[in-house]
Amino acid sequence: MATQSTPPVSLPRHSKSNNPNPYPLSPTVNNDRYTILSLINQCNSTKQLKQVHAQMLRTGLFFDPFSAGKLITASALASFSSLDYARQVFDQIPQPNLFTWNTLIRAYASSPDPIQSLLVFLQLLHHCEHFPDKFTFPFVIKAASELKAFRVGRAFHGMVIKASLSSDVYILNSLVHFYGSCGDLDLAYAVFVKTPQKDVVSWNSMITAFAQGGCPEEALELFRGMEKENVKPNDVTMVGVLSACTKKLDLDFGRWVCSYIERNEINVNLTLSNAMLDMYMKCGSFKDAKRLFDKMQEKDIFSWTTMLDGYAKLGEYDEARHVFDAMPSKDIAAWNALISAFEQNGKPKEALAVFRELQLSKDAKPDEVTLVCALSASAQLGAMDLGRWIDVYIKKHGIKLNCHLTTSLIDMYAKCGDLEKALEVFYSAERKDVFVWSATIAGLAMHGHGRAALDLFSKMLEAKVKPNAVTFTNVLCACSHTGLVNEGQRLFYQMEPVYGVLPGEKHYACMVDILGRSGHLQEAVKLIEKMPILPTASVWVTLLGACRLHGNGNIELAEQACSHLLELDPRNHGAYVLLSNIYAKTGKWDRVSGLRKIMRDFGLKKEPGCSSIEVNGIVHEFLVGDNSHKLSKEIYSKLDEIAAKLKSVGYVPNKSHLLQLVEEEDMKEQALNLHSEKLAIAYGLISTGPSQPIRVVKNLRVCGDCHSVAKLISRLYDREILLRDRYRFHHFRGGNCSCMDYW
Ligand SMILES: [Zn+2]
Ligand SMILES: [Zn+2]
Repeated sequence: MATQSTPPVSLPRHSKSNNPNPYPLSPTVNNDRYTILSLINQCNSTKQLKQVHAQMLRTGLFFDPFSAGKLITASALASFSSLDYARQVFDQIPQPNLFTWNTLIRAYASSPDPIQSLLVFLQLLHHCEHFPDKFTFPFVIKAASELKAFRVGRAFHGMVIKASLSSDVYILNSLVHFYGSCGDLDLAYAVFVKTPQKDVVSWNSMITAFAQGGCPEEALELFRGMEKENVKPNDVTMVGVLSACTKKLDLDFGRWVCSYIERNEINVNLTLSNAMLDMYMKCGSFKDAKRLFDKMQEKDIFSWTTMLDGYAKLGEYDEARHVFDAMPSKDIAAWNALISAFEQNGKPKEALAVFRELQLSKDAKPDEVTLVCALSASAQLGAMDLGRWIDVYIKKHGIKLNCHLTTSLIDMYAKCGDLEKALEVFYSAERKDVFVWSATIAGLAMHGHGRAALDLFSKMLEAKVKPNAVTFTNVLCACSHTGLVNEGQRLFYQMEPVYGVLPGEKHYACMVDILGRSGHLQEAVKLIEKMPILPTASVWVTLLGACRLHGNGNIELAEQACSHLLELDPRNHGAYVLLSNIYAKTGKWDRVSGLRKIMRDFGLKKEPGCSSIEVNGIVHEFLVGDNSHKLSKEIYSKLDEIAAKLKSVGYVPNKSHLLQLVEEEDMKEQALNLHSEKLAIAYGLISTGPSQPIRVVKNLRVCGDCHSVAKLISRLYDREILLRDRYRFHHFRGGNCSCMDYW
C-alpha cells in the first residue's frame, strides 16, 4: 500500500530534463528490479503474478514506475491476462506513467468492453501530466471503431492533428480502419490518400473498408494499385480481395485470386482458406469448394458452416447431412450450423426435424442460438405448439431472456396468430432494444392494428429508443394495412430529417402501397418518379397491385408498371397474373388470352399454393386439390357439407374469381373449391375441438373467394379462423374479418 514515505513517482521513460533523477534507485533496489522482472517474465498465471505483486509491495519496488509498468503489462496483455486484476494493480499505482496508461488503454481496446478504453483515456487526460502519444491513439481509435462511435473517433482525429501526429502511419492506418467500420468510405479514403508512407497494413485497411462497405469494385481497383506500387500483399490483403469477389459474385476473378495466392506463395492460414471457401460457395462453384474443403488440413466451425449453408441453399439435404455427419465433434455449434442452414434457406420443416433430433440426442444441449433458430422456423411454419414448447423450455431451464430471444418469442407468437401472448412477452421483458420494439410493432401491424402500432412507436420514442430502418418498414406497413395515409406520409417524410434513417427500397415500396391501396395512384407514380434510387421490382409489383384494386380505366398505368417490372425480372409470374386480372376485370378477354399464351410459351412456373395447419404439434400441409392426406376422404366430405351449408344461406361462388387467373391455379371450374386454404380449414374443423381457433398459414395471398368463404364458415360453424397469408393476418370471427376487407 502507498505510505507517506512513498515517493510520488512518475518518471518519463526518456526524461530529457536536466534535473537529476529525484528518486535514484539504490544498488540494492536495482538488483531487486532484475530479480522481480525475471520473476514476472516467468509467471504463467494470475496467481503467480499476485505473489510477485505482494513481494513488490513489501520491498517497495511496486512504486518504481518501470517495475510497476512491467507488472501491468503482464497482468493486462499476457495470455493468462485478467483485466480486472490489471485494473486493481493500476489503481494502486500513485502516479502511473504514460507507458502504464497506454498499456491499460490497449488492453481494454481489445477486450469485450472497449468503452473502458475510452473511459481510461478520459482519466488520462485529467490525471496524467503527459499528453497522449503515438502509442495511445491507435488503441483509443481502435476502441472507437469497435463501438462505431463516429463522433468520438472524429474527436480523436482532431487531437491527432493538434498533437502533430498526423504523419504517423500506425495512427493513420487505425483511422482508415475506423472510418471504414463506421461506413464513411470517403473519409477513410481521404486519410488513406494522405498517408505518406503507406505500408501493407494501410492498403489492407482500405481494401477491407471498400469490400465490407459495399464497394467491391473499388477494393479490386485498389488491389491492382497496390501491385503497381510494388507493395507485397499478405494473407490479410487476400481475405479482403476475396471478400470483394464474393460481394461481386465474380467467380472468374475469385479463381484468379486463388491462383495468385498459390503463385505468390502467400501464407494460407485458416482465415484465408475460409475466405476462399466462402467465395467458391457464394459464387456458385460447389465443385471448387468441395475440392478445397477436402484438402484443408485445419477446419473450424466457419468452414463446416459454409459447406452446410451452401448445400442447404441448393436443397441438397443429403449432402448437408453428410457434411454434418462428418463433423469431428457434434457440439451445439455443429447442430446450430445445420439447423440454421435449413432455417435461413426457407426450409423451416427440415430445421425443426433436426431440432427434434437434437433433443433426442445426448450430444449437446440447445443454447440461445438454437432456440432463436427454432423459434424462427416455428414462426415461418405457424407451428404454435412447438413455439410454445420452446417458450416453456426457456423458462424451465432458467435461460436468461436477452433481447435476441425476446424478439424471437414476440415474432413467433405474432406470426402464429397469438398477438396477446406476443404483447405479454413484450410487456414483461426487462430489457427492450430497438429490435424488441420493432418486432412488436410488426406484430400489431400484421394483425391489422395500425393505430396501436403507431401508439407503440410513440412510446418507443418516449423510451428514448432510436428507431432504425426495420422499425420504419414495420411502422409504414402498419399504415398501409390500416389505410392510414396521412400518418404514413408524415412518418415517411420525417425519416431522414428527424430520425436520420435514409429511406430505402422497402420504405418506398411501403409508401407506394399506402398511396396505391388507398386509391392515390397518381401520387404513387409521382413518388416513384422522385425516387433517388432505382425503383426495384417490389416497388413496381406494389404499384401493379394497386392498379388491380383501383385501376379501372387506367390500364395504361398497369401496363407501364408491368413492363418496368418485367424489365427487371422477366420471369416474374406474378406480374402476368396481376396484369391479366386487370384485363379480365375490364373485360379485355383477348388480352387475357394473349398473356396466357406468352406465359405458356415462356414456360413460366408459378409457385404452388400451399396452406399448413398445426394440430397437436404436427404440421399438416395441403396443396391445391390435394388428396394425399390420410383423412382426405373426411376432409372432402366436410367440404361438401360446407358447400351445402353455404348454399343454404345464399352464397354464390364469386364468379369474377373464377374468370380471373388466381395467383395459384388455372381456370378450372372446381379450382375454387379446392384451394389449399379451404382444405386446411376443413381439416381444422374435423380435427380440433369446437372452442379451439383454427390457425392456417398460406404461402400466397388469399383469394377473394376463399376470404368470403372463411368469413361465412366463422359464422356458420361459430369458429374463430386465423389465416396468415403472404402479407398479413385475417382474423375471421362471427362472419367478419379483422382486415375489414381492406387487403
Ligand atoms: Zn382461394
Ligand atoms: Zn381479411
